[in-house]
Amino acid sequence: MKIHEYQARGILRSYGIPVPRFDVATDAEEAGKIAESIGGTVVVKAQVHVGGRGKAGGVKLAEDPNEARRRAKAILGMDIKGLTVGKVIVAEAVDIEREYYIGIVIDRSAKRPVCMVSEAGGIDIELVARVTPERIHRFPIDPLEGMTDGAAAELASMIEPEPEIAERVADVIGKLYEAFVGSDASLAEINPLVVTPGGEVWAVDAKMNIDDNALFRQPEIAEMRDTSEETDEMRTAREMDLSFVKLEGDVGCVVNGAGLAMTTMDLIKFYGGEPANFLDIGGSSSPEKVVAALDIIAGDSNVRAILINIFGGITRCDDVARGIVEALTRRPVSQPIVVRLTGTNESKAREILAERSFAAAETMDDAVQQAVELARGRA
Ligand code: GDP
Ligand code: MN
Repeated sequence: MKIHEYQARGILRSYGIPVPRFDVATDAEEAGKIAESIGGTVVVKAQVHVGGRGKAGGVKLAEDPNEARRRAKAILGMDIKGLTVGKVIVAEAVDIEREYYIGIVIDRSAKRPVCMVSEAGGIDIELVARVTPERIHRFPIDPLEGMTDGAAAELASMIEPEPEIAERVADVIGKLYEAFVGSDASLAEINPLVVTPGGEVWAVDAKMNIDDNALFRQPEIAEMRDTSEETDEMRTAREMDLSFVKLEGDVGCVVNGAGLAMTTMDLIKFYGGEPANFLDIGGSSSPEKVVAALDIIAGDSNVRAILINIFGGITRCDDVARGIVEALTRRPVSQPIVVRLTGTNESKAREILAERSFAAAETMDDAVQQAVELARGRA
């Protein structure tokens, strides 16, 4: 789950990382009041779940409260990479001498968190990673040991030459790791971490992604979910407990189990097609889940054919068949549907589908080929 900068700032601050004073506003007047109470130059920043807000015009300095009002008015309602800005933060501005990047992510192949630091912070870190990867230092962290003081000091010294300031940077690195672990984050990033002309160190941006599977034990963070940043399909999928990933192709898939989902996508590609999504209705599925799944997929204008591929174990094929019939009764689907059901209560499922003159494919290969061809025929 993504959270906003203002929420991540709050978390980082609670771990003792120096974060400039700030507050959140939803209208220009409120932004002006915050600027008044902070005093001096402030920075007005769009709160949306995407990076590169600075380049998109969503981060502006304001020298007085009236300018803060004007800036907030311009930024609120702005469209940044498809997301509408509904909130801004107004933060105390700091003077920038140097901008660093520090971040921690889970490295799945290394099976541990990896801390990355760079003296090339502030700008597009992805660009730095692509063009001058040697400017990003990577340090894998043993999860049992955690971030040791020694490791933090070594990382800090790679980017900050002055020992006294490097000590402050090391302190932030250590605390960022604590925040990362303590929040069950999959990513925690400060870009930029700023050094002021006076040698102070401030986190002026904060980004955190939280592992969805840990939200049950992070109730305060779970509350931070901003549903206005989700698409309708994402929201429906989450509410119905469906794993849904939108892809680029035109064959919509309803599958149960991540393994079967991946196999199905592989087969679609093998037969020359492209999956439009990854949609897993999970282990024990109710007809309601199938209805929701079909709703999501049929509503996607890229989808030209729908493939329902179910292996009935705990999932009962007749439940899924009932879900299909129910979904089509509630809302007719314009795309052709190919169904392949096998396993628990398979014959019952076939009967239910036959009543609706639905042909069920015999094998998985058969079903996938049919779906790919149907999609191609309608291209
Ligand atoms: P992003 O573009 O979405 O990553 O937003 P950031 O919060 O990182 O802001 C982008 C850029 O705005 C930073 O790299 C800074 O150069 C600048 N900026 C942000 N906050 C301040 C501030 O307090 N003072 C100054 N002088 N510049 C800032
Ligand atoms: Mn940034």
